[in-house]
Amino acid sequence: MERLTDIGVIRDILSRHGFTFSKALGQNFLINPSVCPRMADDAVRGDNFGVLEIGPGIGVLTNELLKRAKKVVAVELDKRLLPVLDETLGEFDNLKVINADILELDLHRLIDEEFGGMDVAVCANLPYYITSPVIMKLLEERLPVKSITVMVQKEAAVRLCAEPGTRDSSAITAAVRYYCDPELLFKVSSGSFMPAPKVDSAVIRLTLHEPSVHPKDEKTFFRVIKGAFAQRRKTVLNSLSSSLSLDKQILRDILDTAGVDVNARAERLTIADFAAIADAIYSLKE
Ligand code: SAM
Repeated sequence: MERLTDIGVIRDILSRHGFTFSKALGQNFLINPSVCPRMADDAVRGDNFGVLEIGPGIGVLTNELLKRAKKVVAVELDKRLLPVLDETLGEFDNLKVINADILELDLHRLIDEEFGGMDVAVCANLPYYITSPVIMKLLEERLPVKSITVMVQKEAAVRLCAEPGTRDSSAITAAVRYYCDPELLFKVSSGSFMPAPKVDSAVIRLTLHEPSVHPKDEKTFFRVIKGAFAQRRKTVLNSLSSSLSLDKQILRDILDTAGVDVNARAERLTIADFAAIADAIYSLKE
Protein backbone atom coordinates (compact mmCIF):
# COMPACT_ATOMS: atom_id res chain seq x y z
CA MET A 1 0.00 0.00 0.00
CA GLU A 2 1.34 3.46 -0.89
CA ARG A 3 0.75 6.67 1.11
CA LEU A 4 1.72 5.01 4.40
CA THR A 5 3.20 8.33 5.54
CA ASP A 6 -0.15 10.10 5.06
CA ILE A 7 -1.52 10.96 8.50
CA GLY A 8 -5.13 10.46 7.32
CA VAL A 9 -4.33 6.99 5.94
CA ILE A 10 -2.43 6.02 9.14
CA ARG A 11 -5.25 7.22 11.41
CA ASP A 12 -7.83 5.33 9.32
CA ILE A 13 -5.87 2.04 9.40
CA LEU A 14 -5.01 2.29 13.08
CA SER A 15 -8.52 3.16 14.19
CA ARG A 16 -10.04 0.32 12.14
CA HIS A 17 -7.65 -2.06 13.93
CA GLY A 18 -8.29 -0.42 17.34
CA PHE A 19 -4.54 0.27 17.66
CA THR A 20 -3.12 2.73 20.19
CA PHE A 21 0.59 3.64 20.38
CA SER A 22 2.76 2.01 23.02
CA LYS A 23 5.38 4.35 24.45
CA ALA A 24 7.08 1.43 26.17
CA LEU A 25 7.72 -0.23 22.78
CA GLY A 26 9.18 2.97 21.30
CA GLN A 27 6.38 3.35 18.77
CA ASN A 28 7.05 6.54 16.83
CA PHE A 29 6.01 5.93 13.23
CA LEU A 30 7.58 7.79 10.31
CA ILE A 31 5.33 10.28 8.49
CA ASN A 32 7.99 12.17 6.50
CA PRO A 33 7.68 10.75 2.95
CA SER A 34 11.29 11.44 1.96
CA VAL A 35 12.96 9.45 4.75
CA CYS A 36 12.10 5.80 3.98
CA PRO A 37 13.04 5.82 0.26
CA ARG A 38 16.38 7.37 1.23
CA MET A 39 17.01 4.83 4.00
CA ALA A 40 16.08 1.94 1.71
CA ASP A 41 18.45 3.25 -1.03
CA ASP A 42 21.24 3.51 1.54
CA ALA A 43 20.62 -0.04 2.83
CA VAL A 44 19.95 -2.04 -0.36
CA ARG A 45 22.98 -1.56 -2.59
CA GLY A 46 22.65 -4.32 -5.16
CA ASP A 47 20.04 -6.63 -6.67
CA ASN A 48 20.74 -9.71 -4.56
CA PHE A 49 19.89 -8.35 -1.13
CA GLY A 50 17.92 -9.88 1.71
CA VAL A 51 16.97 -7.34 4.38
CA LEU A 52 16.32 -7.94 8.06
CA GLU A 53 14.07 -5.19 9.40
CA ILE A 54 13.53 -4.64 13.13
CA GLY A 55 10.16 -3.22 14.16
CA PRO A 56 8.21 -2.64 10.91
CA GLY A 57 5.33 -0.82 12.68
CA ILE A 58 2.65 -0.36 10.00
CA GLY A 59 5.20 -1.09 7.26
CA VAL A 60 6.21 2.31 5.94
CA LEU A 61 9.93 1.49 5.65
CA THR A 62 9.21 -2.17 4.87
CA ASN A 63 7.24 -1.03 1.80
CA GLU A 64 10.31 0.74 0.39
CA LEU A 65 12.63 -2.15 1.29
CA LEU A 66 10.32 -4.65 -0.44
CA LYS A 67 10.52 -2.66 -3.69
CA ARG A 68 14.31 -2.87 -3.68
CA ALA A 69 15.24 -6.17 -2.00
CA LYS A 70 14.85 -9.79 -3.05
CA LYS A 71 13.36 -10.61 0.33
CA VAL A 72 12.54 -8.80 3.57
CA VAL A 73 12.17 -10.47 6.95
CA ALA A 74 10.56 -8.06 9.42
CA VAL A 75 10.67 -8.85 13.14
CA GLU A 76 7.88 -7.14 15.11
CA LEU A 77 7.32 -7.62 18.83
CA ASP A 78 3.83 -6.09 19.02
CA LYS A 79 1.42 -8.74 17.77
CA ARG A 80 -1.37 -6.14 17.39
CA LEU A 81 0.55 -4.91 14.31
CA LEU A 82 0.41 -8.25 12.48
CA PRO A 83 -3.11 -7.81 11.02
CA VAL A 84 -2.18 -4.22 10.16
CA LEU A 85 0.87 -5.41 8.21
CA ASP A 86 -1.30 -8.00 6.46
CA GLU A 87 -3.46 -5.18 5.19
CA THR A 88 -0.70 -2.70 4.27
CA LEU A 89 1.81 -5.12 2.72
CA GLY A 90 -0.37 -8.09 1.67
CA GLU A 91 0.41 -7.46 -2.02
CA PHE A 92 4.11 -8.41 -1.63
CA ASP A 93 5.20 -12.04 -1.87
CA ASN A 94 8.82 -11.35 -0.81
CA LEU A 95 7.93 -10.50 2.81
CA LYS A 96 8.02 -12.63 5.93
CA VAL A 97 6.87 -11.14 9.23
CA ILE A 98 8.06 -12.77 12.45
CA ASN A 99 6.35 -11.94 15.74
CA ALA A 100 9.28 -11.94 18.20
CA ASP A 101 11.62 -9.88 20.33
CA ILE A 102 14.72 -9.13 18.23
CA LEU A 103 16.93 -9.49 21.32
CA GLU A 104 15.73 -13.05 21.87
CA LEU A 105 16.12 -14.38 18.33
CA ASP A 106 18.85 -16.67 17.05
CA LEU A 107 19.88 -14.40 14.20
CA HIS A 108 22.55 -16.70 12.73
CA ARG A 109 19.86 -19.31 12.24
CA LEU A 110 17.34 -16.81 10.88
CA ILE A 111 19.82 -15.47 8.31
CA ASP A 112 20.85 -18.96 7.33
CA GLU A 113 17.27 -20.17 6.86
CA GLU A 114 15.80 -17.06 5.24
CA PHE A 115 18.56 -15.50 3.15
CA GLY A 116 20.59 -18.40 1.68
CA GLY A 117 22.85 -17.10 -1.10
CA MET A 118 21.84 -13.44 -0.68
CA ASP A 119 23.82 -10.48 0.56
CA VAL A 120 22.25 -9.42 3.83
CA ALA A 121 21.60 -5.93 5.20
CA VAL A 122 19.87 -4.80 8.38
CA CYS A 123 17.63 -1.75 8.17
CA ALA A 124 15.37 -0.26 10.84
CA ASN A 125 13.87 2.72 12.51
CA LEU A 126 14.94 1.35 15.87
CA PRO A 127 12.84 1.47 19.02
CA TYR A 128 15.10 3.82 20.98
CA TYR A 129 14.88 2.00 24.31
CA ILE A 130 16.98 -0.82 22.88
CA THR A 131 19.34 1.02 20.49
CA SER A 132 22.63 -0.03 22.13
CA PRO A 133 21.73 -3.64 22.98
CA VAL A 134 20.42 -4.24 19.43
CA ILE A 135 23.49 -2.73 17.77
CA MET A 136 25.89 -4.57 20.08
CA LYS A 137 24.01 -7.86 19.52
CA LEU A 138 24.22 -7.42 15.74
CA LEU A 139 27.94 -6.65 15.94
CA GLU A 140 29.09 -9.02 18.68
CA GLU A 141 27.38 -12.03 17.14
CA ARG A 142 29.50 -11.51 14.00
CA LEU A 143 26.49 -11.99 11.75
CA PRO A 144 27.18 -12.38 8.04
CA VAL A 145 25.71 -8.95 7.19
CA LYS A 146 27.15 -6.27 4.92
CA SER A 147 25.72 -3.24 6.67
CA ILE A 148 23.37 -1.95 9.34
CA THR A 149 21.39 1.17 8.36
CA VAL A 150 19.37 2.44 11.28
CA MET A 151 17.53 5.47 12.61
CA VAL A 152 18.62 6.31 16.15
CA GLN A 153 18.39 9.33 18.45
CA LYS A 154 20.67 12.12 17.20
CA GLU A 155 22.85 12.01 20.34
CA ALA A 156 23.34 8.26 19.95
CA ALA A 157 24.23 8.76 16.27
CA VAL A 158 26.89 11.32 17.19
CA ARG A 159 28.35 8.99 19.82
CA LEU A 160 28.29 5.92 17.57
CA CYS A 161 29.90 7.75 14.65
CA ALA A 162 32.39 9.90 16.61
CA GLU A 163 35.97 9.96 15.40
CA PRO A 164 38.29 8.35 17.95
CA GLY A 165 40.27 11.06 19.72
CA THR A 166 37.40 13.58 19.76
CA ARG A 167 35.27 14.72 22.68
CA ASP A 168 32.19 12.82 21.45
CA SER A 169 33.98 9.47 21.50
CA SER A 170 33.12 6.96 24.19
CA ALA A 171 33.47 3.27 24.98
CA ILE A 172 30.80 2.39 22.41
CA THR A 173 32.63 4.46 19.73
CA ALA A 174 35.74 2.33 20.19
CA ALA A 175 33.78 -0.94 20.33
CA VAL A 176 31.83 -0.05 17.17
CA ARG A 177 34.99 0.82 15.23
CA TYR A 178 36.42 -2.58 16.02
CA TYR A 179 33.64 -4.18 13.95
CA CYS A 180 32.67 -1.59 11.35
CA ASP A 181 33.03 1.79 9.68
CA PRO A 182 30.25 4.06 10.95
CA GLU A 183 28.80 6.97 8.94
CA LEU A 184 26.21 9.53 9.96
CA LEU A 185 24.09 9.76 6.78
CA PHE A 186 21.43 12.38 7.54
CA LYS A 187 19.48 13.99 10.36
CA VAL A 188 15.72 13.69 10.80
CA SER A 189 13.65 16.18 12.81
CA SER A 190 11.26 15.03 15.52
CA GLY A 191 8.31 16.34 13.44
CA SER A 192 8.93 13.49 10.99
CA PHE A 193 7.29 11.02 13.40
CA MET A 194 3.85 10.31 14.81
CA PRO A 195 3.70 10.78 17.72
CA ALA A 196 6.65 13.20 17.69
CA PRO A 197 9.40 12.18 20.13
CA LYS A 198 11.09 14.80 22.31
CA VAL A 199 14.43 14.58 20.48
CA ASP A 200 15.68 14.65 16.90
CA SER A 201 17.01 11.56 15.16
CA ALA A 202 19.59 10.58 12.57
CA VAL A 203 20.21 7.73 10.18
CA ILE A 204 23.55 5.99 10.47
CA ARG A 205 25.11 3.22 8.42
CA LEU A 206 27.59 0.76 9.89
CA THR A 207 29.55 -1.07 7.19
CA LEU A 208 31.01 -4.24 8.65
CA HIS A 209 34.65 -5.18 8.19
CA GLU A 210 37.11 -7.69 9.54
CA PRO A 211 38.48 -6.33 12.84
CA SER A 212 41.48 -4.10 12.10
CA VAL A 213 43.26 -5.22 15.29
CA HIS A 214 43.51 -8.70 16.73
CA PRO A 215 43.63 -8.64 20.52
CA LYS A 216 44.71 -11.94 22.13
CA ASP A 217 41.54 -11.99 24.24
CA GLU A 218 38.42 -10.02 23.22
CA LYS A 219 36.96 -10.06 26.73
CA THR A 220 40.03 -8.31 28.15
CA PHE A 221 40.01 -5.90 25.18
CA PHE A 222 36.42 -4.78 25.86
CA ARG A 223 37.05 -4.61 29.62
CA VAL A 224 39.98 -2.29 28.96
CA ILE A 225 37.89 -0.02 26.70
CA LYS A 226 35.08 0.16 29.26
CA GLY A 227 37.50 0.65 32.14
CA ALA A 228 39.47 3.38 30.37
CA PHE A 229 36.29 5.40 29.71
CA ALA A 230 34.75 4.70 33.14
CA GLN A 231 36.21 7.94 34.52
CA ARG A 232 36.87 9.75 31.29
CA ARG A 233 38.14 12.97 32.88
CA LYS A 234 40.93 11.03 34.56
CA THR A 235 44.04 9.71 32.87
CA VAL A 236 43.92 6.18 31.46
CA LEU A 237 46.34 5.22 34.22
CA ASN A 238 43.97 6.36 36.98
CA SER A 239 40.74 5.23 35.36
CA LEU A 240 42.07 1.77 34.53
CA SER A 241 43.78 1.21 37.86
CA SER A 242 40.52 1.83 39.74
CA SER A 243 38.16 0.06 37.34
CA LEU A 244 40.36 -3.02 36.86
CA SER A 245 41.78 -2.92 40.43
CA LEU A 246 45.34 -2.94 39.12
CA ASP A 247 48.37 -1.66 40.98
CA LYS A 248 49.48 1.67 39.50
CA GLN A 249 53.13 0.69 39.10
CA ILE A 250 52.18 -2.51 37.27
CA LEU A 251 49.82 -0.50 35.09
CA ARG A 252 52.54 2.07 34.35
CA ASP A 253 54.73 -0.77 33.06
CA ILE A 254 51.81 -2.12 31.03
CA LEU A 255 51.17 1.26 29.40
CA ASP A 256 54.88 1.55 28.75
CA THR A 257 54.98 -1.86 27.06
CA ALA A 258 51.92 -0.85 25.01
CA GLY A 259 53.59 2.44 24.01
CA VAL A 260 50.77 4.52 25.55
CA ASP A 261 51.45 7.84 27.34
CA VAL A 262 50.51 7.37 31.03
CA ASN A 263 48.99 10.85 31.12
CA ALA A 264 46.69 10.31 28.11
CA ARG A 265 42.90 10.27 28.49
CA ALA A 266 40.80 7.45 27.00
CA GLU A 267 39.36 9.62 24.22
CA ARG A 268 42.90 10.10 22.81
CA LEU A 269 43.52 6.36 22.41
CA THR A 270 43.08 4.41 19.19
CA ILE A 271 41.70 0.87 19.12
CA ALA A 272 45.25 -0.32 18.40
CA ASP A 273 46.26 1.29 21.73
CA PHE A 274 43.42 -0.48 23.57
CA ALA A 275 44.44 -3.79 21.97
CA ALA A 276 48.09 -3.29 22.98
CA ILE A 277 47.09 -2.52 26.61
CA ALA A 278 44.72 -5.50 26.68
CA ASP A 279 47.44 -7.80 25.33
CA ALA A 280 49.91 -6.61 27.96
CA ILE A 281 47.32 -7.19 30.73
CA TYR A 282 46.40 -10.58 29.30
CA SER A 283 50.10 -11.66 29.24
CA LEU A 284 50.20 -11.10 33.02
CA LYS A 285 47.78 -14.03 33.33
CA GLU A 286 49.61 -16.30 30.86
N1 SAM B 1 9.35 1.00 11.16
C1 SAM B 1 8.22 1.76 11.65
C2 SAM B 1 8.33 3.19 11.21
O1 SAM B 1 9.44 3.61 10.85
O2 SAM B 1 7.32 3.91 11.21
C3 SAM B 1 8.10 1.68 13.18
C4 SAM B 1 9.30 2.12 13.95
S1 SAM B 1 9.02 2.29 15.68
C5 SAM B 1 10.25 3.49 16.09
C6 SAM B 1 9.72 0.84 16.42
C7 SAM B 1 9.00 -0.47 16.14
O3 SAM B 1 9.72 -1.53 16.81
C8 SAM B 1 7.59 -0.56 16.67
O4 SAM B 1 6.77 -1.12 15.67
C9 SAM B 1 7.67 -1.49 17.89
O5 SAM B 1 6.49 -2.21 18.15
C10 SAM B 1 8.81 -2.41 17.46
N2 SAM B 1 9.55 -3.05 18.58
C11 SAM B 1 9.76 -2.55 19.83
N3 SAM B 1 10.54 -3.38 20.55
C12 SAM B 1 10.85 -4.43 19.74
C13 SAM B 1 11.63 -5.62 19.93
N4 SAM B 1 12.26 -5.87 21.08
N5 SAM B 1 11.73 -6.49 18.88
C14 SAM B 1 11.10 -6.23 17.70
N6 SAM B 1 10.35 -5.11 17.47
C15 SAM B 1 10.23 -4.22 18.47
